[in-house]
Amino acid sequence: MSYPPPTATGPKVIAAGLDLGGTKIEMQVFNADWQTLTKQRIATPDSYPELVAAIAELISQNVAADVPVGIGAAGLIDPQNGKVLAANFCATGHTLPDDINAATNLDVTYINDCRALALSEAVFGAGKGHKTVASVILGTGVGGGVAVNGVLPVGPTGTGGEFGHCAASAAIVAHYGLPVFPCGCGRTGCVETYISGPGLERLALALTGRAMTSHDIATARSTDTAQVWGAWCALTADALRNLILTLDPDVIVLGGGLSNIDGMIDDVLAATKSAQIGDFAIPPIVLAQGGDSSGARGAAWMAAQ
Ligand SMILES: [Zn+2]
Repeated sequence: MSYPPPTATGPKVIAAGLDLGGTKIEMQVFNADWQTLTKQRIATPDSYPELVAAIAELISQNVAADVPVGIGAAGLIDPQNGKVLAANFCATGHTLPDDINAATNLDVTYINDCRALALSEAVFGAGKGHKTVASVILGTGVGGGVAVNGVLPVGPTGTGGEFGHCAASAAIVAHYGLPVFPCGCGRTGCVETYISGPGLERLALALTGRAMTSHDIATARSTDTAQVWGAWCALTADALRNLILTLDPDVIVLGGGLSNIDGMIDDVLAATKSAQIGDFAIPPIVLAQGGDSSGARGAAWMAAQ
C-alpha cells in the first residue's frame, strides 16, 4: 500500500517515528489524526557510521526540522552515559541518540522498541481508554512497558519494562523439574529463558526430550506437548501475576509472535486466574491490536508529547 506524500497544502504532519531493528529501519510520518502519511523502509546498515548516516538521511528526507521525531529501537540505553546496549544491530557502546542528534541538528526522542509498542497499545490500541496499561511482548525476547494515562514514565535506570529478566517462579521450575537456564543478560533463571519463543522450545526439549518449534507445540497440543504448553502457561501466568501484584494494572496487553498462538489468551487468562491470590480478581488480559506500525507510532507519540 502506498500513501501520497505530504504537501504544503496537504494534511498536517504531527510527528514521525522510526522503528529500528536488526534487519530493517522503517520510518513513518503521521498526520494530526495519527494516520500514516508516508512510509519508508531500508535495510539496517552493518557499520555504525553508516547506521547514523542512514537514520539522519531518512529523517531529513521525510520531515521538516520542526516535526518531532521518535525512534523505537531494540536494546537499551544507559541514562548514565547515553550508551546503547543492542544485541542485534551495530550500536553497542555508542551514544547513538546523541550522534543522531548531532547529525540531524534535532532533538530526537529515543526509546526501547517494547516500550514504544506498549505506549502505542495504551494510546491507540487494546489499552485505549484504560488508566494503567501493562504490555508484555512475548517474542524472541520478553519485554514490555507500563503506560499511565497515555504516558510512559521514564525512570532513572532505563530498565523499567524489562520484565523478561525477572526471575522465573522457583516453585513452577521445581514442579516441572526444569533446568535453570543461562540468559542473554548474563544472569540465570530469568523468566524470558522459559516463556520467550526460544524459551518455549527449551521447555519442550527439557520435558519431552524432543526438539520442537514453537509452531509444532502450538499446533499439536496433545499428550506430551500439553505438558509443555501447561508449563509455559503457568510460568507466563506467574510473570503476569507479579505484574498485577506490583502495579494492579487496569488491563494487560499481550503482543509478540507467541501471542498469535491459537487460544493462547484463553489459556493464559485461566492460568493467571488460578495463580492469583485467593478469590481476588485479575484484570482483563487482551491481545495487542497494533500491527507493523505500532513501534513507529508509539515512538512518534512519545516525541510529540
Ligand atoms: Zn535475563
